[in-house]
Amino acid sequence: MPNYQLEEEEIVAKISKLKAQMIGLQFPDGLRVHATRLARKIENETGATTLISGDACYGACDLSDRSMEGLVDLLIHWGHTALPLDYKVPVLFVEAYSTMEVFESVKKALKLLENYETVGLVTTTQHLYLLNDIANFLEENGKKVKMESGNGTRHGQVLGCNFSSARGLSVDSFLYIGSGNFHPLGLKLSTDKPVIIADPYMNEVREIDKFADRVLRKRFAKIAVSMGAKRFGVLVSSKYGQMRLEMAKSLKKIIQDQGQEAYLILLDNIKPDLLMAFRDLDAFVVTACPRIAIDDAQIYEKPLLTPYELEIALGIRDWGDYQIDEIIYE
Ligand code: SF4
Repeated sequence: MPNYQLEEEEIVAKISKLKAQMIGLQFPDGLRVHATRLARKIENETGATTLISGDACYGACDLSDRSMEGLVDLLIHWGHTALPLDYKVPVLFVEAYSTMEVFESVKKALKLLENYETVGLVTTTQHLYLLNDIANFLEENGKKVKMESGNGTRHGQVLGCNFSSARGLSVDSFLYIGSGNFHPLGLKLSTDKPVIIADPYMNEVREIDKFADRVLRKRFAKIAVSMGAKRFGVLVSSKYGQMRLEMAKSLKKIIQDQGQEAYLILLDNIKPDLLMAFRDLDAFVVTACPRIAIDDAQIYEKPLLTPYELEIALGIRDWGDYQIDEIIYE
Protein backbone atom coordinates (compact mmCIF):
# COMPACT_ATOMS: atom_id res chain seq x y z
CA MET A 1 0.00 0.00 0.00
CA PRO A 2 1.47 3.39 -0.98
CA ASN A 3 2.33 5.90 1.71
CA TYR A 4 1.50 9.55 1.50
CA GLN A 5 2.99 12.69 3.02
CA LEU A 6 0.01 13.88 5.03
CA GLU A 7 1.89 16.84 6.58
CA GLU A 8 0.54 16.11 10.03
CA GLU A 9 2.97 18.27 12.03
CA GLU A 10 2.55 21.25 9.67
CA ILE A 11 -1.24 20.99 10.01
CA VAL A 12 -1.12 20.91 13.80
CA ALA A 13 1.16 23.99 13.80
CA LYS A 14 -1.12 25.82 11.38
CA ILE A 15 -4.28 25.10 13.42
CA SER A 16 -2.54 26.25 16.61
CA LYS A 17 -1.37 29.44 14.90
CA LEU A 18 -4.85 30.19 13.55
CA LYS A 19 -6.43 29.27 16.91
CA ALA A 20 -9.12 27.45 14.91
CA GLN A 21 -11.63 25.62 17.14
CA MET A 22 -13.71 23.61 14.71
CA ILE A 23 -11.91 21.85 11.87
CA GLY A 24 -13.50 20.13 8.89
CA LEU A 25 -11.55 17.18 7.48
CA GLN A 26 -12.10 15.92 3.94
CA PHE A 27 -10.40 13.07 2.11
CA PRO A 28 -10.69 11.31 -1.24
CA ASP A 29 -11.82 7.71 -0.78
CA GLY A 30 -8.30 6.24 -0.80
CA LEU A 31 -7.10 8.46 2.04
CA ARG A 32 -10.19 8.28 4.30
CA VAL A 33 -8.60 5.33 6.16
CA HIS A 34 -6.42 7.96 7.85
CA ALA A 35 -9.40 10.10 8.93
CA THR A 36 -9.93 9.03 12.53
CA ARG A 37 -6.21 8.81 13.31
CA LEU A 38 -5.68 12.35 11.99
CA ALA A 39 -8.80 13.62 13.81
CA ARG A 40 -7.46 12.13 17.06
CA LYS A 41 -4.04 13.70 16.57
CA ILE A 42 -5.48 17.13 15.74
CA GLU A 43 -7.88 17.04 18.71
CA ASN A 44 -5.21 15.83 21.14
CA GLU A 45 -2.55 18.30 20.04
CA THR A 46 -4.59 21.45 19.35
CA GLY A 47 -7.69 21.12 21.55
CA ALA A 48 -9.87 21.75 18.45
CA THR A 49 -12.89 19.63 17.54
CA THR A 50 -12.93 17.92 14.15
CA LEU A 51 -15.80 17.19 11.77
CA ILE A 52 -15.00 14.48 9.21
CA SER A 53 -16.78 14.55 5.86
CA GLY A 54 -18.02 11.01 5.28
CA ASP A 55 -19.19 11.63 1.72
CA ALA A 56 -17.37 10.40 -1.35
CA CYS A 57 -15.02 12.97 -2.85
CA TYR A 58 -13.31 12.67 -6.23
CA GLY A 59 -11.79 16.10 -6.69
CA ALA A 60 -11.40 19.69 -5.57
CA CYS A 61 -14.55 20.26 -7.65
CA ASP A 62 -16.42 18.64 -4.77
CA LEU A 63 -15.23 20.33 -1.59
CA SER A 64 -17.20 20.23 1.68
CA ASP A 65 -16.89 24.00 2.06
CA ARG A 66 -20.54 24.63 1.24
CA SER A 67 -21.96 21.86 3.45
CA MET A 68 -19.61 22.91 6.28
CA GLU A 69 -20.13 26.67 5.91
CA GLY A 70 -21.03 28.07 9.33
CA LEU A 71 -19.97 24.81 11.02
CA VAL A 72 -16.17 24.97 10.82
CA ASP A 73 -13.46 27.67 11.04
CA LEU A 74 -11.15 25.82 8.69
CA LEU A 75 -11.46 22.94 6.25
CA ILE A 76 -8.47 20.69 5.61
CA HIS A 77 -8.68 18.89 2.29
CA TRP A 78 -6.21 16.12 1.45
CA GLY A 79 -5.27 14.76 -1.95
CA HIS A 80 -6.10 17.54 -4.41
CA THR A 81 -4.82 20.97 -5.36
CA ALA A 82 -7.00 24.07 -5.16
CA LEU A 83 -9.12 25.04 -8.15
CA PRO A 84 -9.83 28.68 -8.95
CA LEU A 85 -13.24 28.49 -7.23
CA ASP A 86 -14.93 30.64 -4.63
CA TYR A 87 -14.59 28.44 -1.52
CA LYS A 88 -16.93 29.38 1.31
CA VAL A 89 -14.63 28.61 4.26
CA PRO A 90 -10.84 28.92 4.56
CA VAL A 91 -9.36 25.75 3.07
CA LEU A 92 -5.96 24.22 3.72
CA PHE A 93 -5.06 21.94 0.80
CA VAL A 94 -2.67 19.10 1.62
CA GLU A 95 -1.43 17.56 -1.59
CA ALA A 96 -0.61 14.19 -0.03
CA TYR A 97 2.43 13.37 -2.15
CA SER A 98 3.00 9.69 -2.66
CA THR A 99 6.27 8.30 -1.35
CA MET A 100 6.12 5.50 -3.95
CA GLU A 101 9.37 4.91 -5.83
CA VAL A 102 8.74 5.89 -9.47
CA PHE A 103 12.10 5.71 -11.24
CA GLU A 104 12.02 1.96 -11.90
CA SER A 105 8.93 2.37 -14.06
CA VAL A 106 10.30 5.56 -15.68
CA LYS A 107 13.45 3.63 -16.66
CA LYS A 108 11.29 0.92 -18.22
CA ALA A 109 9.36 3.58 -20.14
CA LEU A 110 12.51 4.58 -22.07
CA LYS A 111 12.05 1.51 -24.27
CA LEU A 112 8.51 2.52 -25.27
CA LEU A 113 9.67 6.11 -25.80
CA GLU A 114 12.45 4.97 -28.16
CA ASN A 115 10.84 6.39 -31.29
CA TYR A 116 9.76 9.68 -29.76
CA GLU A 117 12.19 12.55 -29.47
CA THR A 118 10.04 15.13 -27.68
CA VAL A 119 8.03 13.98 -24.69
CA GLY A 120 5.28 15.81 -22.79
CA LEU A 121 5.52 14.85 -19.11
CA VAL A 122 2.34 14.79 -17.00
CA THR A 123 1.04 13.35 -13.76
CA THR A 124 -1.51 13.83 -11.01
CA THR A 125 -1.15 15.71 -7.73
CA GLN A 126 0.48 12.79 -5.88
CA HIS A 127 3.66 12.77 -8.00
CA LEU A 128 3.96 16.44 -9.00
CA TYR A 129 6.91 17.02 -6.70
CA LEU A 130 8.98 14.47 -8.66
CA LEU A 131 8.39 15.85 -12.14
CA ASN A 132 11.55 17.97 -12.36
CA ASP A 133 13.72 15.01 -11.33
CA ILE A 134 11.95 12.75 -13.84
CA ALA A 135 12.38 15.40 -16.56
CA ASN A 136 16.12 15.61 -15.80
CA PHE A 137 16.39 11.83 -15.96
CA LEU A 138 14.64 11.71 -19.35
CA GLU A 139 16.83 14.50 -20.72
CA GLU A 140 19.98 12.70 -19.53
CA ASN A 141 18.68 9.82 -21.62
CA GLY A 142 18.32 11.84 -24.80
CA LYS A 143 14.73 13.09 -24.63
CA LYS A 144 13.48 16.65 -24.99
CA VAL A 145 10.93 17.11 -22.23
CA LYS A 146 8.11 19.63 -22.26
CA MET A 147 5.80 20.57 -19.39
CA GLU A 148 3.32 23.38 -19.00
CA SER A 149 0.85 24.59 -16.45
CA GLY A 150 -2.81 24.71 -17.47
CA ASN A 151 -5.96 26.64 -16.59
CA GLY A 152 -6.42 25.71 -12.94
CA THR A 153 -3.63 23.10 -13.01
CA ARG A 154 0.03 23.16 -12.04
CA HIS A 155 3.09 22.54 -14.17
CA GLY A 156 2.65 19.05 -15.64
CA GLN A 157 -0.58 18.37 -13.74
CA VAL A 158 -3.66 16.83 -15.32
CA LEU A 159 -7.11 16.24 -13.83
CA GLY A 160 -9.62 13.75 -15.18
CA CYS A 161 -11.49 16.64 -16.79
CA ASN A 162 -8.70 19.11 -17.47
CA PHE A 163 -5.82 18.44 -19.86
CA SER A 164 -5.12 22.10 -20.61
CA SER A 165 -1.51 21.69 -19.41
CA ALA A 166 -0.92 19.10 -22.15
CA ARG A 167 -3.15 20.00 -25.07
CA GLY A 168 -1.06 22.87 -26.45
CA LEU A 169 2.30 21.08 -26.20
CA SER A 170 4.10 20.33 -29.43
CA VAL A 171 5.41 16.85 -28.58
CA ASP A 172 5.75 13.43 -30.25
CA SER A 173 4.20 11.59 -27.29
CA PHE A 174 3.23 11.92 -23.65
CA LEU A 175 4.64 10.10 -20.64
CA TYR A 176 2.10 9.84 -17.83
CA ILE A 177 3.36 8.95 -14.34
CA GLY A 178 0.74 7.22 -12.19
CA SER A 179 -1.67 4.34 -11.83
CA GLY A 180 -4.77 3.24 -13.73
CA ASN A 181 -6.11 4.23 -17.14
CA PHE A 182 -8.39 7.07 -16.05
CA HIS A 183 -6.06 10.03 -16.64
CA PRO A 184 -4.12 8.53 -19.59
CA LEU A 185 -7.42 7.81 -21.37
CA GLY A 186 -8.51 11.43 -20.98
CA LEU A 187 -5.08 12.60 -22.10
CA LYS A 188 -5.30 10.45 -25.22
CA LEU A 189 -8.82 11.64 -26.06
CA SER A 190 -7.86 15.27 -25.45
CA THR A 191 -4.54 15.34 -27.36
CA ASP A 192 -4.80 12.42 -29.81
CA LYS A 193 -1.06 11.81 -29.23
CA PRO A 194 0.58 8.50 -28.20
CA VAL A 195 0.42 8.13 -24.41
CA ILE A 196 2.87 5.92 -22.51
CA ILE A 197 2.07 5.09 -18.87
CA ALA A 198 4.84 4.61 -16.31
CA ASP A 199 2.88 2.94 -13.51
CA PRO A 200 4.95 2.76 -10.32
CA TYR A 201 2.16 0.95 -8.44
CA MET A 202 2.23 -2.01 -10.83
CA ASN A 203 5.91 -1.40 -11.67
CA GLU A 204 5.06 -1.64 -15.35
CA VAL A 205 4.81 0.46 -18.48
CA ARG A 206 2.07 0.27 -21.09
CA GLU A 207 0.40 2.18 -23.91
CA ILE A 208 -3.15 3.49 -23.74
CA ASP A 209 -3.97 3.47 -27.46
CA LYS A 210 -5.78 0.12 -27.72
CA PHE A 211 -7.77 0.76 -24.55
CA ALA A 212 -8.73 4.22 -25.86
CA ASP A 213 -9.86 2.70 -29.18
CA ARG A 214 -12.13 0.27 -27.34
CA VAL A 215 -13.62 3.09 -25.26
CA LEU A 216 -14.18 5.22 -28.36
CA ARG A 217 -15.99 2.35 -30.11
CA LYS A 218 -18.31 2.05 -27.10
CA ARG A 219 -18.88 5.80 -27.10
CA PHE A 220 -19.83 5.73 -30.77
CA ALA A 221 -22.30 2.92 -30.04
CA LYS A 222 -23.95 5.04 -27.30
CA ILE A 223 -24.14 8.02 -29.66
CA ALA A 224 -25.68 5.85 -32.39
CA VAL A 225 -28.36 4.54 -29.99
CA SER A 226 -29.15 8.12 -28.90
CA MET A 227 -29.75 9.29 -32.46
CA GLY A 228 -33.34 8.14 -32.22
CA ALA A 229 -33.97 9.70 -28.82
CA LYS A 230 -37.02 11.95 -28.53
CA ARG A 231 -36.72 13.01 -24.88
CA PHE A 232 -33.46 13.94 -23.15
CA GLY A 233 -32.65 14.55 -19.51
CA VAL A 234 -29.90 17.18 -19.15
CA LEU A 235 -28.15 16.47 -15.85
CA VAL A 236 -26.87 19.41 -13.81
CA SER A 237 -24.65 18.88 -10.78
CA SER A 238 -25.29 20.64 -7.48
CA LYS A 239 -21.57 20.21 -6.71
CA TYR A 240 -20.23 23.73 -7.08
CA GLY A 241 -17.11 22.83 -9.07
CA GLN A 242 -19.11 20.69 -11.49
CA MET A 243 -22.12 22.94 -11.92
CA ARG A 244 -22.54 24.11 -15.50
CA LEU A 245 -26.11 25.40 -15.52
CA GLU A 246 -25.58 27.82 -18.42
CA MET A 247 -24.21 25.01 -20.52
CA ALA A 248 -27.18 22.80 -19.56
CA LYS A 249 -29.63 25.55 -20.51
CA SER A 250 -28.00 26.02 -23.89
CA LEU A 251 -28.03 22.23 -24.50
CA LYS A 252 -31.73 22.15 -23.65
CA LYS A 253 -32.31 24.86 -26.27
CA ILE A 254 -30.20 23.02 -28.86
CA ILE A 255 -32.23 19.85 -28.28
CA GLN A 256 -35.52 21.74 -28.53
CA ASP A 257 -34.38 23.52 -31.69
CA GLN A 258 -33.93 20.05 -33.20
CA GLY A 259 -37.57 19.27 -32.38
CA GLN A 260 -36.94 17.01 -29.36
CA GLU A 261 -37.86 17.42 -25.69
CA ALA A 262 -35.31 18.22 -22.96
CA TYR A 263 -35.59 18.47 -19.17
CA LEU A 264 -32.99 19.91 -16.78
CA ILE A 265 -32.43 17.59 -13.79
CA LEU A 266 -30.41 18.67 -10.75
CA LEU A 267 -28.50 15.96 -8.86
CA ASP A 268 -25.76 15.85 -6.26
CA ASN A 269 -24.51 12.35 -7.05
CA ILE A 270 -25.51 10.87 -10.39
CA LYS A 271 -26.44 7.22 -9.85
CA PRO A 272 -28.21 4.58 -11.98
CA ASP A 273 -31.12 4.07 -9.52
CA LEU A 274 -31.86 7.81 -9.47
CA LEU A 275 -32.07 7.95 -13.27
CA MET A 276 -34.25 4.84 -13.50
CA ALA A 277 -37.23 6.85 -12.20
CA PHE A 278 -37.20 8.88 -15.43
CA ARG A 279 -38.75 6.07 -17.44
CA ASP A 280 -40.05 8.29 -20.23
CA LEU A 281 -36.62 9.75 -21.06
CA ASP A 282 -34.59 8.05 -23.79
CA ALA A 283 -31.10 9.41 -23.05
CA PHE A 284 -29.24 11.72 -20.67
CA VAL A 285 -26.65 14.42 -21.25
CA VAL A 286 -24.17 15.00 -18.41
CA THR A 287 -23.01 18.54 -17.70
CA ALA A 288 -21.57 17.41 -14.32
CA CYS A 289 -18.25 15.54 -14.11
CA PRO A 290 -17.37 14.79 -17.75
CA ARG A 291 -16.04 11.36 -16.84
CA ILE A 292 -19.36 9.94 -15.63
CA ALA A 293 -20.66 9.35 -19.16
CA ILE A 294 -17.39 7.86 -20.38
CA ASP A 295 -16.12 5.80 -17.44
CA ASP A 296 -19.36 4.62 -15.81
CA ALA A 297 -21.38 4.02 -19.00
CA GLN A 298 -21.79 0.28 -18.41
CA ILE A 299 -23.75 0.72 -15.16
CA TYR A 300 -26.50 2.83 -16.75
CA GLU A 301 -29.49 1.35 -18.52
CA LYS A 302 -29.93 4.30 -20.90
CA PRO A 303 -27.21 6.16 -22.78
CA LEU A 304 -25.39 8.98 -20.99
CA LEU A 305 -23.76 11.43 -23.39
CA THR A 306 -21.27 14.24 -22.98
CA PRO A 307 -22.27 17.61 -24.50
CA TYR A 308 -20.08 17.03 -27.59
CA GLU A 309 -21.50 13.54 -28.02
CA LEU A 310 -25.01 15.01 -27.90
CA GLU A 311 -24.11 17.31 -30.78
CA ILE A 312 -23.03 14.29 -32.84
CA ALA A 313 -26.23 12.44 -31.93
CA LEU A 314 -28.29 15.46 -33.05
CA GLY A 315 -26.37 15.64 -36.34
CA ILE A 316 -24.85 19.07 -35.69
CA ARG A 317 -21.25 17.83 -35.18
CA ASP A 318 -19.33 15.43 -37.40
CA TRP A 319 -18.28 12.04 -36.03
CA GLY A 320 -14.72 12.95 -36.97
CA ASP A 321 -14.86 15.97 -34.62
CA TYR A 322 -15.26 13.79 -31.52
CA GLN A 323 -13.81 15.60 -28.53
CA ILE A 324 -13.60 14.84 -24.80
CA ASP A 325 -15.59 17.22 -22.60
CA GLU A 326 -13.40 19.16 -20.15
CA ILE A 327 -14.11 21.65 -17.37
CA ILE A 328 -11.56 24.39 -17.84
CA TYR A 329 -11.54 27.15 -15.22
CA GLU A 330 -10.50 30.56 -16.56
S1 SF4 B 1 -15.18 17.07 -12.45
FE1 SF4 B 1 -14.70 14.87 -12.36
S2 SF4 B 1 -12.73 14.63 -13.38
FE2 SF4 B 1 -12.99 16.81 -12.91
S3 SF4 B 1 -11.94 17.10 -10.95
FE3 SF4 B 1 -14.10 16.71 -10.52
S4 SF4 B 1 -14.26 14.48 -10.19
FE4 SF4 B 1 -12.29 14.89 -11.22
